[in-house]
Amino acid sequence: MSATPLVRLDDVSKEYELGAVTVHAVRGVSFDVAAGELVIVLGPSGSGKTTILNLLGGIDSPTSGRILVDGRDIAHYDEEQLTQYRRRTTGFVFQFFNLIPTLTALENVSLVAELVPDCLDPAEMLGAVGLADRADHFPSELSGGEQQRVAIARALVKNPAILLADEPTGNLDHETAIRVLQVIRDVNANQGKAVVMVTHNNAVAAMAHKVLRMRSGELVEVRRQETPADPLSLVW
Ligand code: ADP
Ligand code: MG
Repeated sequence: MSATPLVRLDDVSKEYELGAVTVHAVRGVSFDVAAGELVIVLGPSGSGKTTILNLLGGIDSPTSGRILVDGRDIAHYDEEQLTQYRRRTTGFVFQFFNLIPTLTALENVSLVAELVPDCLDPAEMLGAVGLADRADHFPSELSGGEQQRVAIARALVKNPAILLADEPTGNLDHETAIRVLQVIRDVNANQGKAVVMVTHNNAVAAMAHKVLRMRSGELVEVRRQETPADPLSLVW
């Protein structure tokens, strides 16, 4: 297949100025994400994984390099263009769920839906993550895994082309993590969405089509996997 990739990072670097010190969070990173691909970014703490995800999500802009999404370079978007990009193209899932505690599961998902034209049905999205019967529960009445699945429904209700997830199972026990990984795999396999997921858990990488390994801000390995593992088979 020679189709243009959905996403292409081309020699991307991100530096942070901390007083007199320059932190090279990401250095000269290049990779592609194809439509429908499940990509996992591996690496130890501080290796630049979150920075990569924030750049892909339009939360941060690179110091140099190009980030082509559907052929357009988001590296040079202004604030208004980035806002539109974040609303329409990407859905973000965080390690600590970030749900609004005073809103029910359904209201958390609906709130995002109101921002976006052509959004999907919030109740249907809760159903898709297996939480139809928890719609009226508040976050404090849900387990960690259920809260993370609400967060995934919230990310997906915008019908984004790309789901971005930063250590989405980092705060969950093994069994709960597997359930959340199954939902993410289904989003990729059944809804055809590209997924870029960050983890420091090597075992999780087995479920990816492609594994990117980061070290000290550099991309040191790109590995393709012909037969991604079923999340149910993952052990750690
Ligand atoms: P990871 O997600 O792999 O743990 P990060 O992408 O969060 O790594 O961070 C990579 C490096 O960049 C780290 O050294 C971190 O301290 C630094 N860094 C990240 N964000 C900032 C920031 N906003 N200001 C200064 N340094 C930062
Ligand atoms: Mg991180």
